[in-house]
Amino acid sequence: MTTNNSISLFERAQQSIPGGVNSPVRAFKSVGGTPVFMERAKGAYLYDADGNRYIDYIASWGPMILGHAYEPVVRAIQQKAEGSTSFGAPTLLEIEMAELIRSMTKNVDLIRMVSSGTEACMSALRLARGYTGRNKFIKFEGCYHGHADAFLVKAGSGLATFDIQTVPGITGGVSNDTLTCAYNDLNAVQALVAANKNEIAAIILEPVAGNMGCILPEPGFVEGLRRICDEEKIVLIFDEVMTGFRLSAGGAQETLHIDADLVCYGKVIGAGMPVGAFGGKKEIMSHIAPLGSVYQAGTLSGNPLAMIAGYTLLKTLKDNPAIYQELSDKTAYLHAGLQKVLEAHGKPFVINRKGSMISIHFSDKPVTDFATAAAADNAYFNRFFHAMLSRGIYLPPSAFESWFLNNALTYADLDETIHAAEESLKAL
Ligand SMILES: *Cc1c(COP(=O)(O)O)cnc(C)c1O
Repeated sequence: MTTNNSISLFERAQQSIPGGVNSPVRAFKSVGGTPVFMERAKGAYLYDADGNRYIDYIASWGPMILGHAYEPVVRAIQQKAEGSTSFGAPTLLEIEMAELIRSMTKNVDLIRMVSSGTEACMSALRLARGYTGRNKFIKFEGCYHGHADAFLVKAGSGLATFDIQTVPGITGGVSNDTLTCAYNDLNAVQALVAANKNEIAAIILEPVAGNMGCILPEPGFVEGLRRICDEEKIVLIFDEVMTGFRLSAGGAQETLHIDADLVCYGKVIGAGMPVGAFGGKKEIMSHIAPLGSVYQAGTLSGNPLAMIAGYTLLKTLKDNPAIYQELSDKTAYLHAGLQKVLEAHGKPFVINRKGSMISIHFSDKPVTDFATAAAADNAYFNRFFHAMLSRGIYLPPSAFESWFLNNALTYADLDETIHAAEESLKAL
């Protein structure tokens, strides 16, 4: 497979874009080599600037849950664009979007649209602080909640990929209010809460983590957080930017049978357009401006193209719950196939999976938090990544990212992927 066009595009990109990319993980820095420049995509396949075809396991980091260029979404965007791309004034479509999400999630009374997952998490945290009158909050090592200042402490994802511990430009005053614990460590949460009695506004987490590879909450972990938050009047925030509308129509809340106080959405909610949202109980959400005094705004929030794309996708997901079973079955099939070739190969590994999220860590111990994810042989993953890429399989370019399946994947695609994994491992 030749990638000459990608190589020259990357050189050109670096002349005018920092590092040649508009989001760091795209630069392939941790896995090495040149990022592949994409030209178009259809269904489960990406096509790069050299005309190579890849089976896609990123799905734009989640949104393309039904595959790329899903026709109803593309048509809806085209039609909507004729009626203007933005008004800066309210529209019926925004009501329909909010009503649709409310119908899919039983504890979201009010929901506010924003333009990214970052904005959603940032706004939910501000709201939790405004509502409780407290400053501190707890996040978990390896969980990523976007790039707002307060969250860029032990933040997984691209920061873990680049081994960034502290971020220049973020003041001590901001990060001092960010308390961190290991994921799945309920005792550590309890100790932090006791040591900061009546000072903690919120606990925020990825209810199934995807930014240190895929990591599942252990039985009792999320339930324990819910109990602590109830006892201490702390706002429990589920960052469902990855899991929302992916694990099930009702997201991780539905899958794990836990109601958060505030929920953040992104990724799938916009079907590939820039959309995020945060919502929750009326009692808390009514503190947001203009109802309340916690300010939050956005010129392009509720943008008509973004809303019609998201609405069309979410409505399809709501009306066709079998999609989730299909996705889960495909992911389980991939899991079983990879398991078999990895076992035959002999290198220790761990596969974590929930619904259509899955990842491999080359580890001989269970991977349950950031420390165990970081202790895996991630240099080996990087070589595996390139071996797969050269065989037309596009995995996330970092061991600290979950893979996302899309429902356009066929069983033939999955077989091709498993076969490529077998060949890749032989070549390593
Ligand atoms: C991607 C992601 C975000 C940030 O969303 P952006 O749209 O990239 O700003 C926040 N939280 C989680 C869990 C994510 O995966």
